[in-house]
Amino acid sequence: MPRPILATIHPDALRHNLERVRQAVPDAKLWAVIKANAYGHGIERVFDALRGADGFALLDLAEAERVRQLGWRGPILLIEGAFEARDLELCSRLGLWHVVHCDEQIDWLAAHKTQVGHRVFLKMNSGMNRLGFAPGSYRSAWARLNALTQVDEISFISHFSDADGPRGIAHQLSVFHTATQDLPGERSLCNSAATLALAQDSQVRCDWVRPGIVLYGSAPDYPLHTAQDWALQPAMTLSTRVIAVQHLQAGETVGYGSTFTAEAPMTIGVVACGYADGYPRSCGTGTPVLVNGQRTRVLGRVSMDMLTVDLTPVEGAGMGSEVTLWGRASNGALLSIDEVAQAGGTLGYELMCAVAPRVTMVVAD
Ligand SMILES: *Cc1c(COP(=O)(O)O)cnc(C)c1O
Repeated sequence: MPRPILATIHPDALRHNLERVRQAVPDAKLWAVIKANAYGHGIERVFDALRGADGFALLDLAEAERVRQLGWRGPILLIEGAFEARDLELCSRLGLWHVVHCDEQIDWLAAHKTQVGHRVFLKMNSGMNRLGFAPGSYRSAWARLNALTQVDEISFISHFSDADGPRGIAHQLSVFHTATQDLPGERSLCNSAATLALAQDSQVRCDWVRPGIVLYGSAPDYPLHTAQDWALQPAMTLSTRVIAVQHLQAGETVGYGSTFTAEAPMTIGVVACGYADGYPRSCGTGTPVLVNGQRTRVLGRVSMDMLTVDLTPVEGAGMGSEVTLWGRASNGALLSIDEVAQAGGTLGYELMCAVAPRVTMVVAD
């Protein structure tokens, strides 16, 4: 028998979450962001459920090829654009739209031989200081692009640093709209957090939104809001089983470093999941977990292939019991990936992207 750990992708949840975004911004076009192999879910596993999107946004050229191979003829946007000049050949061949964020990318376009005009998204660094032209050099970049025969259409894009936090987006929004004021073309600003919380304002919403994390059922602004608050459903379940049971006396300890000590007699379950499966080592004592669909907690340190959980509060639990690390249990109980992530000092984003290759991943029917 294979080791019992399994990641299950839920197409019904992906469809629901996509619909949820549609409801939030009914008159905007929607890029489903599927970078990082669909946030760890697998592009091929999510494609069918997300094909109701208006386009797919990602950054790896090999991933763009996979989306075309799946038969998608609609828009695909490379959100970091070309990494070297010859990447533009693939853009021409596959009809990929691409971000232009620096002068070198314009140089490559100017030297590129192509029959088909490219659709480009000119990126502004409106304050995040990652990719993009500073507001002061944005218009000259636009003029350079606009003069190229290789360029068919220019759109405008920027990215918020604080759509989910108290700092907010007002400054970046004003910088962006001021610098693009009279330039003709479509615009795109919103990630998940901005799409759900701020896009009622048409200046924020613009023509295209770019939701990623919400599609996978994690709250972009946890713990301010939970996935449940946003009516999102988890698109991934990580589950496994109890493979051994130990009965502890008061004063006995658990695992490497003996970091957990039993205060009273208790029963613990040894679970087939460890940091080599992508479950973070930082999710030690106290991290929530479901056993037979009932909430309990991790005890002690997570090791490479195993972790231990408290079975004392879980009636009828023992050898072979179902363990849900995050997602949906068989009895319908949910454990939010955001809550697990927070216990380990990280984000749902990181956990879903980090499920290890040794974990079998299947699509639920
Ligand atoms: C990743 C990414 C998104 C999606 O972000 P979420 O927070 O997952 O919604 C949108 N736009 C850009 C440019 C990105 O890199």
